[in-house]
Amino acid sequence: MEVKKLGVLGAGAMGHGIAQLAAVIGCEVVLRDIDMKFVEKGIAGMDKFMSRSVEKGKMSAEDKEAALARVKGTVNMSDLSDVDFVVEAVLEDLDLKKKVFAELDEVCRPDVILATNTSSMSITEIAKATKRPNQVVGMHFFNPAPIMRLVEVIRGYFTDDETVAATSALAQRMGKQTVEVKVDSPGFIVNRLMVPHMLEAIEMYQEGVASKEDIDKAVKLGLNYPMGPFELMDMTGIDIIYNVAEYFLKELNKELKWVSPTLLKNTVRAGRLGKKTGGGWYE
Ligand code: NAD
Repeated sequence: MEVKKLGVLGAGAMGHGIAQLAAVIGCEVVLRDIDMKFVEKGIAGMDKFMSRSVEKGKMSAEDKEAALARVKGTVNMSDLSDVDFVVEAVLEDLDLKKKVFAELDEVCRPDVILATNTSSMSITEIAKATKRPNQVVGMHFFNPAPIMRLVEVIRGYFTDDETVAATSALAQRMGKQTVEVKVDSPGFIVNRLMVPHMLEAIEMYQEGVASKEDIDKAVKLGLNYPMGPFELMDMTGIDIIYNVAEYFLKELNKELKWVSPTLLKNTVRAGRLGKKTGGGWYE
């Protein structure tokens, strides 16, 4: 079923960006926060972003007004009773997310998919707060949501194929590329790769291997990343990196993270070294 009306919970940094993406593709949006001042701030953020798009000639003024007119801000959960799909983007707090999912389960039609934009938490744990765990899924947008091209679609233990397919289809309608994360595991793909490289950057800086400016410069010029790890941590919040790292330690408990995995050893022994041997991980 095509999503015509989307519910978004939380009008903060991520929620208002997701609401904007939906409104731009023609969906009606119900944007719910706990206080109208947060909703209004989110709608003002959309207005500002789209006004810049109009100035740059990427969007017409009429389309911007039409998109804004499709967004209804509210503090009432009951206004989500007729939405076709929900994306939750409240604070990264497991108890809060469980509470919100239990409420959504009561309010929304039984066929509605409930997606969470969590950056790290267990989809399975969140799903257990509902009576429809097969229709609970991770839908991880990146910041800023209207610009970043990727959405990770994450399977919880109970998530069914239809839910994964419908979630991917919605993200694609919003102009995103999707990847499927098959196992509900901390950090999914992107953050599981990003956080260790940030920790290593901090370690090197602490050891005096190089200044943070030079580490950022090296990563940008040597790896061709758009931002260095210190710049990126400053943008996303250093506390977030810390919290995610603590969560990884608890959940993944990889004290031996620098020991070469068996697959790496075997791939090298097999002479599968990459382009120079005609193939490595890929042909
Ligand atoms: P934020 O603090 O900017 O916004 C969260 C909003 O949720 C606030 O406006 C808050 O009032 C609202 N809220 C709290 N309780 C609520 C409830 N019961 N119902 C409705 N709204 C409620 O946070 P954010 O950065 O937008 O993050 C939201 C989610 O997205 C988190 O799970 C976070 O981990 C994830 N995320 C964040 C980023 C990022 O870079 N900021 C990137 C990807 C995913």
